[in-house]
This record gives sequence, structure tokens and C-alpha cells, in this order.
Amino acid sequence: MKIFRKNFVRYIDAGLPILYVDTFEGYKTKEIIRELCSQHRRDVIEWNLLGAVDFSDGQTLALPKSDLAATLQLLIDDDNLDNKTLILQDAHFSLDKPETIAALKAVAQGITSGKYDCTVCIISPLVPLPKELENYTTIMELDPLTEENIGEIVRGFIKTQEIDQPEDDLLNKIITRLKGLSQTEIYNILSLAISEDGMLTSRDLTNILEQKQQLVKKSGILEMIRVKETMNDIGGLENLKRWLLRKSEIFKQIKKAQDFGVDIPKGVLIAGMPGCGKSLTAKAAAKSFDVPLLRLDMGRLMGKYVGESEGNMRRAIKITEASSPCVLWIDELEKAFAGVGGKGGGSEVTTRLFGNFLTWMQEKDSLAFVVATANKIDALPPELLRKGRFDETFYVDLPNRTERRKILEIHIRKRRPRDLSRIDLDRLADKTDGYCGADLEGVVREAIESAFVQKKPALTTDEIIDAIENTHSLSEVMKDSIDDMKKTYETLKLKSASK
Ligand code: ADP
Repeated sequence: MKIFRKNFVRYIDAGLPILYVDTFEGYKTKEIIRELCSQHRRDVIEWNLLGAVDFSDGQTLALPKSDLAATLQLLIDDDNLDNKTLILQDAHFSLDKPETIAALKAVAQGITSGKYDCTVCIISPLVPLPKELENYTTIMELDPLTEENIGEIVRGFIKTQEIDQPEDDLLNKIITRLKGLSQTEIYNILSLAISEDGMLTSRDLTNILEQKQQLVKKSGILEMIRVKETMNDIGGLENLKRWLLRKSEIFKQIKKAQDFGVDIPKGVLIAGMPGCGKSLTAKAAAKSFDVPLLRLDMGRLMGKYVGESEGNMRRAIKITEASSPCVLWIDELEKAFAGVGGKGGGSEVTTRLFGNFLTWMQEKDSLAFVVATANKIDALPPELLRKGRFDETFYVDLPNRTERRKILEIHIRKRRPRDLSRIDLDRLADKTDGYCGADLEGVVREAIESAFVQKKPALTTDEIIDAIENTHSLSEVMKDSIDDMKKTYETLKLKSASK
């Protein structure tokens, strides 16, 4: 907790009025704060829904117990705030009440005006911060546990539970898997792991992974996607595939690569035409990296309270890091950050959210590889395209003739492998100029269905040509916007995903 401790002392010395510690680890946080306050000769008053205790004399304060606003008012009236740290634990339950907000604001103003030397510490897992308090509040987080810390926790657990210590190799694997989780979460997982057989075995590694998936699910912002798709399912996009395969080689032997001086791969931005395999590539990347795929739902990330979206973003980042090594797929990136830094401007929240995201991308040294996909790159803030954020930005165009041939082949092989040798793929590729990958898949699907309904024994070229003639290609449907997009990509001089 070095960083948390250092920042906490810095913040109380600087007289910051409200510190909001975003954590589920209330007990541990309180312990640390109490210890730091005692080192700095500061008295602590603690409040939670059950009441308030003044730690200078250990007395329970005779206060209107569960009413935070009244408690604060009493402390102001009694002039009982100087040289104090006020720890508030269940504050999030009453942070939407005007009287609580007003009372906290009054305390904060008293602090900033120098009336008393005091710090309010709100410890809570939620950050629905009222707008009125935003300027007075600094959000803090506990340091993530290091492998060393986790090792201590696991060894401590083994000792107190009096179970056999697993072999070093397994113990190290367990410790690595538990990375990113909090102490409580680790205890819970370990307790569950030994509940059946009374020991830690290699089977528990799977349990740990399942528990992490639970964490992802509970967040409501991230989704863990099961991936079947491989690079072989992608027709064309050879440049992009080659690039990703290279990164996956690094990813898989990261320790060796780092020792050699190779940077940890950060991520890739794939922009371009809809239906041309961007999402498919995100999935295949996870498969090739041999790690789980997490999808970030930007829509759900945007909350309605001030600070909620940022809280969600922080949580998403935390969970992503906890799940690393992983691929984090951010779908339709432009929807989240449209307008930031450009004409018209994004909203304040979006701009801040964007800032948080950029900082994370810049500083990230975990094995969470980001694949961001976007259909409209001109809506994206230019900072995002600058070097150092993503390792590379690729542009996906409508498939060329060779790519179309390959895509058709892939989708026919998937469904009717034995008909493939009789189908004239060259003719089909010639006939499908302007069709995107999804169109081509649709054509194959349609042709197979119609062959079945008409009781034909096999799929033929003619069947597929009929389907092509009955399909409007993407370039027909979106002619104007496709031309615009092409121009943008040319101006931005992005790397082509194709050869
Ligand atoms: P995007 O994310 O670019 O909008 P998707 O990757 O979701 O497009 O493509 C939709 C579907 O179309 C894919 O699941 C796949 O079946 C098919 N498809 C698109 N592009 C390709 C491709 N290059 N190779 C093979 N199939 C493709």
C-alpha cells in the first residue's frame, strides 16, 4: 500500500477536504487510515450506519445514529472537527439526500477556508458522487496487491487453515492467477477452493478463473466472450493477421521478450468498413494469444450520476487488469469518444473518460492487449491516433478480389466442405465486387438454404450466383458514406489491413 499511504499523507498535509476511497475493502482501508492518522497525531472519528465513535477517547458519540447529515451538523456545531479525520463508511446510502450533501459541503468549505484542520474520508465501493461535492473531492484507490503480497496472503491462509502447502510450481501458478483480486476476494476464493477436498490442487486453478469470470459478470460493464474463431476463419486482411501473429508470439513468451528488451504489446485500433471482419479479428486475436476475451460495453459504462461513468471505467480497467493476460475488445470505439477534442466537443464526462482511458493506455504495463474497433474513424479524437497509444492503427477496406475468393471459400468450407471442389470461386469473386465479408457470408448461407429447400443434392456455383443477384452489396447500400470513409482513410494515411 505504498502509493496509497504516500498519497494519503500528502493529501491530508495539503488540506484536501474530501478523500473518496473507492474500495470494497472497508475494514483494511480503515486500519491503514487509522494507523497513518495516529502517526500524524490526528484524531479519528468514525461514522457508519450503526453510529459514530470518537477514537480520541474511544467513546461512542451520542448522535442521531444513522443520520449522517445530523451527525455532521452536530460536529460542526460542537466545533469538534479541528485536527480530525472523519471516516465515513456507509455514506453512499445517503449521498443522494440534499441535507447530507449540504452538510458535507459545509464541512468541506470549513476545511478549505482554514476554519479547522480536518479531512473527510469516504470509504465506499460506489461512486455516485453528487455534482455539488465534486470540486471538493479527490478519488483514491488502494494499491493493487503485488505478487509478493498475494504470496503472503496465500501462505497465511494455508497456515491458519492448517492445510498442506502445494508444490512450489502450483503455488506460484495460484498466486499469479489471483493477481488483480482484493484480499477479501482472495480469501473467498481460497475458502471455496478447499471446501471440497481440504487442499489446494491444480483443479483449483480453473476455479480461480471461474471466480474471476464471476467478477467480470458482476461488473455489468464487461462481458467474457467464448471464442471459437481463429485466424484461419479470416479471409484476407493478411497484413493485420501477420502483425497480430507476431504480437501473439511476444505475448506468449513475454518474460523472455522483455528480458530481451521488447516492449509489452499495448493494443491495436482497427477501423474501417462495417461487416469486413473487424470483430472477427478481435475474437481471433484472443484465440491466437490464447487468452480470454473481454468485451467492454461502452453504452453500459456511461452512468447517469456524476463520476459514475468514471467509476465504471476505473472498475472496468481494474477487472481487465485482474483478468490479464487477456484481450480487451472495445467495440465501436467512436460511439464512446465521438466529438472529444474535435469540432462541437464531447461532453465533460466523455472528455474526462477519454482522458482516463488514454492515461491507462499510455501507462499500462499489464498483459491486457486492447483491440479497439471503429467504423467511423473521423469521429474519433485525433489524440487517439497519435503514436504511443496503440501500437498500430489499421484500416480495413472492402475485400479485394483475392480476399473475396478466400472469404467465400471459408464460408463454403465451413458448411458444405464436400461441394467446394466443384464450385467456381473465381467466377464468384468476379461477380462480388463491392460486397463486404458479411455480405459474402450471407450469400453463401442464402444459397445453401435455397439448395436445401429445392431439394438439390449439393451446392452449386449457379445457386450462389442467384443469391448474389438477389443481394444488395454494402457498397450499393452505403455508397456515399463508403466514398467518404475511403477519403478519410487516405488522408490519415493509415496502414492497410490487406496485403
Ligand atoms: P465488422 O466488425 O467489421 O463490422 P464482423 O467481423 O462482425 O464485421 O463481420 C460479420 C461477419 O461477416 C463475421 O462474423 C464473418 O462471418 C463475416 N466476415 C466478415 N469479414 C470477413 C472476413 N474477412 N473473412 C471471413 N468472414 C468475414
